[in-house]
Amino acid sequence: MMHEQTNIMTSGARPAPRIRYVARILSYVRPYSGLAAMTLVIIVLGTLFGLASPLPMKIMLDYVIPKNPGPPPAWLRAVFGNVTDNQGHLLIATAVAMVLVVLTENVLAVINNYVSTKLNQKMVLDFRSDLFSHAQRLSLAFHDQKRSGPLIYAINFQADAAAGIVIAIPPLLESFLTLIGMMIITYSIDRKLFGLSLLVLPPLWLSVKLYARVIEGRLRRVKEMEEVSLSIIHEAISMLRVIVAFGREGYEYTRFRKQGETAVDARVNITVWQTMFSLAVKLITGVGIALIVGVGAHEVRAGRITIGDMVMVIAYIGMVYKPLEAISFTLGSLQNNKINLQMASELLDLQPEIQDKRGAVDMPRAHGKVEFRDVCFSYTGRTDTLREINFVAEAGQVVAIVGPTGAGKTTLISLIPRFYAASSGKISIDGRDVTDITLKSLRDQISMVLQEPLLFSGSIAENIRYGNLAATTEQIIEAAKNANAHDFISRLPQGYDTQIGERGAQLSGGERQRVCVARAFLKDAPILILDEPTSSIDSKTEAVILDALDKLMEGRTTFMIAHRLSTVRRADKILVMEQGKLIEQGRHEELIELGGLYKQLHDVQIGANSTRRRRVLDPVP
Ligand code: ADP
Repeated sequence: MMHEQTNIMTSGARPAPRIRYVARILSYVRPYSGLAAMTLVIIVLGTLFGLASPLPMKIMLDYVIPKNPGPPPAWLRAVFGNVTDNQGHLLIATAVAMVLVVLTENVLAVINNYVSTKLNQKMVLDFRSDLFSHAQRLSLAFHDQKRSGPLIYAINFQADAAAGIVIAIPPLLESFLTLIGMMIITYSIDRKLFGLSLLVLPPLWLSVKLYARVIEGRLRRVKEMEEVSLSIIHEAISMLRVIVAFGREGYEYTRFRKQGETAVDARVNITVWQTMFSLAVKLITGVGIALIVGVGAHEVRAGRITIGDMVMVIAYIGMVYKPLEAISFTLGSLQNNKINLQMASELLDLQPEIQDKRGAVDMPRAHGKVEFRDVCFSYTGRTDTLREINFVAEAGQVVAIVGPTGAGKTTLISLIPRFYAASSGKISIDGRDVTDITLKSLRDQISMVLQEPLLFSGSIAENIRYGNLAATTEQIIEAAKNANAHDFISRLPQGYDTQIGERGAQLSGGERQRVCVARAFLKDAPILILDEPTSSIDSKTEAVILDALDKLMEGRTTFMIAHRLSTVRRADKILVMEQGKLIEQGRHEELIELGGLYKQLHDVQIGANSTRRRRVLDPVP
């Protein structure tokens, strides 16, 4: 799975078959099929009026201006009888018709603008929302391995791809319809001109093909470079404290700048290709127009067609060649959108490694018995992160997990909420395999308080409410009181409405952690996971937090990773981990008696504590 992800994300990945993209685009059009149908109707009407628009001018030139006009066509005769006697009326009618045509064309344009903008914006929002929700659904394993640049890039800059393609279709269709209409009319006027107008199509087609071939790979590479730039920004902003602490602003700036410059060079290169393409298209259409005008003039002189016919043909040519030229631009943006759609689709097509199994059911509130049976797990590219883990935590028990750094403690608890998927073995809650339960209801059973107290920007109340979005203000205050946080919050000038910066930068570590504990209180889940929540907190505040955690642990199955063995003495069960293995388990006294790793760790800490105490007490020399 991950292997596939790695491939798919690298440059030059094989795009999925075209039909998949078409299906994807259609799935985004479907909810707005009414709007889409309206655009089509408008396009057809617009084309018809467009085709009719040079007609008044032709009539003016051929039947109103000449003293002795030639025989009028049947429909004109039907309305105005003998045209020669009626030239005055015909003149007024033609002028009015001109105004009407312009009016209709532009009213249609206004409606079209409204409808297509609405369609476009709605589709973009849908696509963007899907990318966002997908980014959240991709498993932590994915986010561990990938930079966030591509995701942010896709959400920000590639979400308009599907809509962009859809929006480009009506103008293309319009020029195509006009092209056909024009050919039919030109054919009826003069076959030679008709033949000439066809002449430009092959070279146009060729240059489009060539352009697509040249530009596609380059466009993709530029976008990948832009993704990296975005990753650098994202990382720098989220690591700002470290950057500032090490004085590495200049280094990061240079890194960003260098990456940006490579991307800029590549972009400029692409733009050169794009303008060359546009030049080629304009040249081809220019030659086409010159030929038609030249030959057309010759035909008029030879009396084979009227000036009115010639003006009409030229008007059509303008009408079609302009869109054809616009197509060179549209195709450029189509190409761009195609690459965007491909790249965004590759992200959307990544299946989250962890998702609800078919037939997974919601689990009602659990009692909290947790069991690991022969559980093995390895991170991608690693081996034996966890080996054959077996233990049972009865409902309501406190289970401490100890062991040296890197032994696999955090990994072990990450498997309970299925942040990662066990490669073999079974993890169950109240006897039910966690993979049989929906992720949502599984995670509803678990509260976590982590080492780093992460808070959102927003008010303190909002941060606590995150534990239960439906909580009332009273419940929030109650939770804060339980977490020993109410006092410090009340002392803040704005109390619970105090806004905290991103990551809670305006509170001390201990205060932030108490807000996190309050959040866990509010969630009120039967299983509690504490991943060294006091490790980065001074010992005075620690006591306050430990007291709050004691209250929080009441009546819940608790998993607690702890370095300080003093806090694990009272645990109902202690799991001792070493190099991915669970080597000892039991109560404090049992493990001391066993005389294994736990006893060693214990002795070392006791020793360290007593030396530290001695040192403190030693008289200053
Ligand atoms: P502990 O919590 O006991 O310190 P961890 O569970 O964090 O240990 O880590 C166990 C092993 O897994 C370590 O060797 C660590 O390097 C590795 N590890 C931890 N997280 C990841 C990850 N996201 N990707 C790959 N390896 C990881």
